[in-house]
Amino acid sequence: MSNSLTSVADHRERITGLLGVLPVVSLPVVDCLGLVLAQDLVAPIALPPFDNSAMDGYAVRAADLASVPVVLPVADDIPAGRTASAPLEPGAVHRIMTGAPLPAGADAVVQVEWTDGGTSSVRIDRAVPAGANVRRAADDVAVGTTVLRAGTVLGPAQLGLAAALGFGALPVRRRPRVLVLSTGSELVGPGEPLEPGQIYESNGVMLAAAVREAGGEAELLRFVPDDVAEFHAAIGPRLAGFDLLLTSGGVSAGAYEVVKDAFTGRGVEFTKVAMQPGGPQGAGRYQGVAVATLPGNPVSAQVSFEVLVRPALRAAMGFPDVERRSVRARLTSPLTSPAGRTQFRRGKYDPESGRVVTPVGGPGSHLLSALAISDCLIEVPEDVTELAAGAEVVVRFLH
Ligand code: AMP
Ligand code: MG
Repeated sequence: MSNSLTSVADHRERITGLLGVLPVVSLPVVDCLGLVLAQDLVAPIALPPFDNSAMDGYAVRAADLASVPVVLPVADDIPAGRTASAPLEPGAVHRIMTGAPLPAGADAVVQVEWTDGGTSSVRIDRAVPAGANVRRAADDVAVGTTVLRAGTVLGPAQLGLAAALGFGALPVRRRPRVLVLSTGSELVGPGEPLEPGQIYESNGVMLAAAVREAGGEAELLRFVPDDVAEFHAAIGPRLAGFDLLLTSGGVSAGAYEVVKDAFTGRGVEFTKVAMQPGGPQGAGRYQGVAVATLPGNPVSAQVSFEVLVRPALRAAMGFPDVERRSVRARLTSPLTSPAGRTQFRRGKYDPESGRVVTPVGGPGSHLLSALAISDCLIEVPEDVTELAAGAEVVVRFLH
């Protein structure tokens, strides 16, 4: 490998270091989906908090049902939500609903289906043992138990548990705020007429979506032409408050490389990363904000995001595992790859026909439709230039 190239791992580490780990904030539980819990969650109450009925039926003393059928007076009626009820006297029952507190003196619940459903007196047809249909206090969680560890990714069940324990807010690492900016004088917004030589701008919407999918907040800044003054005018007033500026285009070896020209000598370093697509890259800090500059070809931009930026955003949010899931698979067709660069080819993985992966489209970094129907990246290591059909590769899923 030529030593003028930066390794993929080094460049990813650089961006990860620039972003660092984001601060812990307290967010309403309802806004915490997909975020990482920053402290152990300790139960302030028991679950259930009190003995309660698992059925709609009658709270009884099991001993009163020694010979069934039996008719007993219904001394009280306890709906869910009742906060105080009289104790159950021997020889009587209380009608009780699911989730209602079991009255003192009762030791079981007979489900309504085993009775005539009476409201002043009730005929009970079947006996139950003590403890039947009763959910005991702390059955699920005892007070003081650590129910979730710091580092847990909060999904629906974890948020439900937090709410059940009475938490209105949770300590989480906040979402990174990313300003997304496309560059290129040839770019036109979707919906506008396209003149010869112009193309529709697609990286902005793609990268903003990728940031959101990674768990970040993205703001899409209108793309700017290849003009350094206009570039600075666009970002200057907008940067404050963001954690990352993510640009695309204007970083390769041509003339009019606006991002390179605007940032060279101003805290952003430009380099060639040993990967294909996505070689030309930049990273640094400008006006206190981390900067990652991706190349403009849409597939290069998106693959660079996946390989270099997404893991950094996930690390910043405190995810214990920043990588996508990967598996080993066999190629259905041969591949060639440049020496000294990790190639990330787009592919479709098929678990059914025995863990095989089919390359989609060629290596060209303008082949956006191939990326759009792919579900994984096929990694061809730096030192590998040819792979035969049947060769084993690592595939990294894109979702
Ligand atoms: P650049 O890296 O600026 O030299 O751009 C490389 C290629 O990607 C050129 O063909 C550009 O037209 C194209 N490109 C750059 N930025 C975008 C964008 N935001 N949307 C679509 N294509 C782009
Ligand atoms: Mg350009």
